[in-house]
Amino acid sequence: MPRVIVDQSRCIGCGTCYKVCPSGVFVIKRGKSYPVNEDKCVMCRACITHCPTGAITIAHREEEHLKRLYGG
Ligand code: SF4
Ligand code: SF4
Repeated sequence: MPRVIVDQSRCIGCGTCYKVCPSGVFVIKRGKSYPVNEDKCVMCRACITHCPTGAITIAHREEEHLKRLYGG
């Protein structure tokens, strides 16, 4: 299952991720983007490609779990 992370310190609230995401993952609130439907992410990476500030990262929960276990 994907995990969508927005670095709030980098996000400028331009709304591009909201526009390009085919799955409606993001909402823009008070000038920042929030991944509210990350379970619907299809990992197309459009948001990552189009975000002008590089604020978005996508990770697999399983990978994160393994990293925590093995320190990778
Ligand atoms: S595209 Fe990037 S900078 Fe623009 S709202 Fe989304 S996360 Fe924020
Ligand atoms: S990778 Fe694609 S589906 Fe997932 S949040 Fe970004 S734009 Fe939406």
